[in-house]
Amino acid sequence: MKLGWLVCGIVLAVAAQGARAVDFGVIRRVPLQHFKPLKAHPQVALTFDDMPAAGGLSPGETRAAIATRLANELRANHIKGVYGFVNAVGLDQDPDMQQALRIWVAKGMRIGNHTWSHPELSSDSASAYEREIAMDEPVLREFAQGHDWHWFRFPYLEEGDTVAKREDVRHWLQAHGYHVAEVTLNFNDDEWSDPYNRCLAKRDTAGIAWLEQSYMQNAKEFIRVGRQEEQIAFGREVPNVLLLHETSFTTLMLPRLVEMLRQEGFRFTDLRKVERNRVYAKDPATGFPDGGSLLNEFLDSRHLPYPSFTPEPEQQLDSLCR
Ligand SMILES: [Zn+2]
Repeated sequence: MKLGWLVCGIVLAVAAQGARAVDFGVIRRVPLQHFKPLKAHPQVALTFDDMPAAGGLSPGETRAAIATRLANELRANHIKGVYGFVNAVGLDQDPDMQQALRIWVAKGMRIGNHTWSHPELSSDSASAYEREIAMDEPVLREFAQGHDWHWFRFPYLEEGDTVAKREDVRHWLQAHGYHVAEVTLNFNDDEWSDPYNRCLAKRDTAGIAWLEQSYMQNAKEFIRVGRQEEQIAFGREVPNVLLLHETSFTTLMLPRLVEMLRQEGFRFTDLRKVERNRVYAKDPATGFPDGGSLLNEFLDSRHLPYPSFTPEPEQQLDSLCR
């Protein structure tokens, strides 16, 4: 199938109507040149995974300091109510992790469930996985300060390698009052974390400069890819959820990332508003062993083509500052 063709329901009508509901049941192809780009500003909700201990710590760094800088930066940009998805493993033994969560919530941010210890659903049973979700709850209840913590982010974005397992966990989540925090935009920001800590330890400024440049380049590339995937999957752009991690390096890069998103036309909103869009109620009902964004699930289940893209510089990241 050629990439020059978009597959969608009623793409021309949707482009004219903006973000209004569309019947995804009708599939037909329209040439790419007939697609009208989004007139309104795209929207994005930032979310942070693996709180409060994403990535390694450089000497002298604390989890509380990272959470403070990150929340302050979000507030300085008028981005509020941002969800951080918590793995509570190790938290009871670590006052620094506890303090990080307290600060995050005290500064107006939210917390949600990311399981207790970050297991892979594809290699776990549904019942064991559901116990992992439940094990995270006491910490969420304790630290959320009355806010709604019933939002769940699947670790590795693995939502079930079989349809049966997918449905089992989804039914459990629904029965326990959860919403699934889906993802549309993701650029593997956490893969810059270890190289950054290595370069910091070596005081390798050239290495850090390359990390900063490649991080932004990669972010820009995968945000374009996500927007294009939406056009292929749904015939239009949809309100977005961007997956980030609460690492030291993403915290450092956040001002530049926010600026780049603004230059691309994005406006910031929160997860709850984004997921009111009808797209998020659609279930691709597919087994997806490797995990992926909501868009990846739709493209795969419908055998739709992926846009071409420049992959992240994995080898350079792995060898830098060794
Ligand atoms: Zn995670």
